[in-house]
Amino acid sequence: MIQAERLLKLPPYLFEEIDRRIQKAREEGIDVISFGIGDPDLPTPAHIVNACIEAAKKPENHRYPSSKGTQGFREAVAGRIKSDYGVELDPGSEVTSLIGSKEGVHNIHMAFVNPGDVVLYPNPGYPVYQISPGFCGGRAVPMPLSEENGFLPDLSKIPSDVAKKARIIWLNYPNNPTTATAEKSFYSEAMDFAVENDIILCSDEAYSAIAFDGYKPPSLIEIDGVMEHGIVFNSLSKTYNMTGWRIGYAVGCSDVVSGLVKLKGNVDSGAPQFIQDAGAVALNSSQECVAENIRVYAERRDTLVKGLRSLGFDVEAPKATFYLWMKIPSGDSMDFATNLLKTGVVVTPGVGFGEYGEGYVRFALTQPVERINEALERMESVV
Ligand code: PLP
Repeated sequence: MIQAERLLKLPPYLFEEIDRRIQKAREEGIDVISFGIGDPDLPTPAHIVNACIEAAKKPENHRYPSSKGTQGFREAVAGRIKSDYGVELDPGSEVTSLIGSKEGVHNIHMAFVNPGDVVLYPNPGYPVYQISPGFCGGRAVPMPLSEENGFLPDLSKIPSDVAKKARIIWLNYPNNPTTATAEKSFYSEAMDFAVENDIILCSDEAYSAIAFDGYKPPSLIEIDGVMEHGIVFNSLSKTYNMTGWRIGYAVGCSDVVSGLVKLKGNVDSGAPQFIQDAGAVALNSSQECVAENIRVYAERRDTLVKGLRSLGFDVEAPKATFYLWMKIPSGDSMDFATNLLKTGVVVTPGVGFGEYGEGYVRFALTQPVERINEALERMESVV
């Protein structure tokens, strides 16, 4: 069967190649320690699982949900935003549920990008920003993230003719994969750029809750202009170890939210209501479970940073996210990752997140401390 051109045009998926290599290593009997995928190894907290079990018993939850989400879930999202950032939202028009934030990150393009429109995206970055614009005839234009710039895009380097054609600009802080964070002043600068060029400013804040040493990442939702030009995507996946549940949300400008909801109404029927009920419990309850997660990640981060430094690597302790972004001493990132895999240690080559990620590898802190120490011992033999 010949696939549609939009699929045939997709670049080869590097992560599939990495999976193939991991599979091969396992078949050869190698005990694999994977720092590859950003999928928490910790379980979803019990109070959320229990809420789901109770919600699944209710017959009203066995019927079609709405794409926009239940009133209870949208109110819980608005409540969390109010507690975290002091911003009041109308759960009726400024909030929608998502079937995981990836769904929204993709569908926002389908709702707002016309053929020929430009989408500005960070590179290295979460691959969906680069791929989805092509599905609606748009053109994804990279904004390089470099160490010299604190891994923030230099908006002044975007040519004005490109900016004029842009429909969407993506920001993602705390950032995957570089772990960089952005301050309010940067969000304001990005908002000015979006207003000047009449662009939708999309902020993907999937890692907003995972921050260390008392640091609290700001949000686009706090910035003037967001209710006219911006939308924030967030997720319960990383905050509450719920990647498998597929539940997220978007908040912001009501016109943008309603465009996304209109699109969703034509392609999906929303997240299951018992998942939304459990999600509402997660958002409304004490956030001590999140603080506990952070303590676990902090210990892993410190163990890995210390160990990598003692092996001679140049690595900084991240302020947020559960990743570590490490510069490799020489060569390309795919070779570095392939070499490490010989010892059973899996890291993601930076080039997998775009060409500007070359020269780095990413570790996900999704292994317990003992396995991190074991991985460090094994790495000693290859460095
Ligand atoms: N955005 C970023 C930056 C991510 O890294 C991920 C997942 O890894 C997502 C969005 C999607 O998360 P989910 O669809 O589980 O909400």
